[in-house]
Amino acid sequence: MSAAAPHRVLFVASECYPLLKTGGLADVAGALPRALMAMGQDVRVLLPAFPKVKAAAAEQKKVAKIKDLFGGPATVLEATADTGLKLFLLNAPHLFDIKGNPYLDEEGQDRADNALRYGGFARAAADLAMGRLGKWHADLVHAHDWQAGLVSAYLQKEGAARPKTVFTIHNLAFQGLFPKTVLKDLELPADLFGPDGLEYWDKVSFLKAGIVYSDHVTTVSPSYAAEIRTEDGGMGFGGLLASLGDRLSGIVNGIDTEVWNPAADPAIAAPFSQKKLTPKAKAKRALQKEFGIRPDKHAPVFSVVSRLTEQKGLDLLVGALPHLVGNGAQLVVLGSGDAALEDAFAEAAKTYKGNVGTFIGYNEDLSHRVQAGSDFIFIPSRFEPCGLTQLCAMRYGTLPVVARVGGLADTVIDANLAALQSGAGTGLQFSPPAQEPLNAAIDRALSLFGDKPTFRKVMKNAMGYDVSWDRPAAAYGALYDRLIQL
Ligand code: ADP
Repeated sequence: MSAAAPHRVLFVASECYPLLKTGGLADVAGALPRALMAMGQDVRVLLPAFPKVKAAAAEQKKVAKIKDLFGGPATVLEATADTGLKLFLLNAPHLFDIKGNPYLDEEGQDRADNALRYGGFARAAADLAMGRLGKWHADLVHAHDWQAGLVSAYLQKEGAARPKTVFTIHNLAFQGLFPKTVLKDLELPADLFGPDGLEYWDKVSFLKAGIVYSDHVTTVSPSYAAEIRTEDGGMGFGGLLASLGDRLSGIVNGIDTEVWNPAADPAIAAPFSQKKLTPKAKAKRALQKEFGIRPDKHAPVFSVVSRLTEQKGLDLLVGALPHLVGNGAQLVVLGSGDAALEDAFAEAAKTYKGNVGTFIGYNEDLSHRVQAGSDFIFIPSRFEPCGLTQLCAMRYGTLPVVARVGGLADTVIDANLAALQSGAGTGLQFSPPAQEPLNAAIDRALSLFGDKPTFRKVMKNAMGYDVSWDRPAAAYGALYDRLIQL
């Protein structure tokens, strides 16, 4: 419980579990506000009313009208999610009535009208926060990723009356870059365009706007916060981020421990827990069956639940397949993304029939069964702001095998001798994310799997590791207190 009076906090995010999810941002936007609400904060989440969102939200009530939001009328609806989350939906059919991925078109390219879509979203968010759209107003706006980057730019002109602003970078690779001509369409003053403002090499960057105009910037782990301040990890923003000093900090994500609970998970065959681990064997057998691989309890099952992209380093895993399968291990892959990686894993399921199973696609329930039934999960990312799958895995007693980068470095305790002797160790780390170190990590995993008492001990350590939102939410609460008192 935060010591100060409850704050009115407006979360601004383009996706939110369980209404709409393409990645970790949705998990955070769905769970962190609930953890903050449990601490007594008055948190609302503003979402674009995409068709899926409108269909999933309950108790929708119109609270405000906007005559013209960049080319069409809009309304603000108050609503709730099944999880109890309090929502505002920005209902602007000319911007949000789209099918499929909210950012990409059918060819996987950025949607051509994204600047207006997310510019309109940010504009409405700023007005809502100022109390101009209905009765509610915010003491603080917490905006997420480039889609909400312009909120603080719109709030700029409000002077001292404006709420405080926090901007969270979930992934620096997505920078919201648009031609500078969009500034006029978005009704932003021309003087914001410059190297100290939202200009990035003669373009407008929504992400940069969030970084430059917010009172505080966070990212989703301390290690990633350090990495992005550098030339190597800064993806063009290293100097700017370094210049923020202590206005930039890292707070590691949690996961929703009700949604991810092996003792009460409707998606899995038999519940299990740290104290009652035996039924996990049933989940493993069921997983081997579901992915069409050999049902063998002695074969270690490794898994992947991921976007299949360059970032995630899964090409390294393709390279490691002969080594992995050649040593008697099995692999199940759940993911979608780059065609070359999708094809490589589909091909692997044929080449290593009976030992490799692939499901190309996005499937929430299946992701729970993969987490429950695997012995290890691979996360060989080249960079990883926080990563959530390793947290889910640990909760299900599945040991993460991770590249030592970003949030993976901060959340997985390498089960080396020293860690094991002091009763720690929740997975395996390797560095750098390259073929040889990954192969060596596979060897370590195999020998750990062969040492049953130690393997079981590490599984229990992993299941006992605190992956909840309790600590992170308290850290955000303290940050809000500090900014609001400034
Ligand atoms: P990112 O946000 O970079 O994609 P994270 O690890 O932070 O990676 O979050 C990914 C989230 O998406 C996790 O909750 C993971 O379980 C989920 N996920 C990724 N791919 C799939 C998939 N193919 N099917 C179901 N869930 C998936």
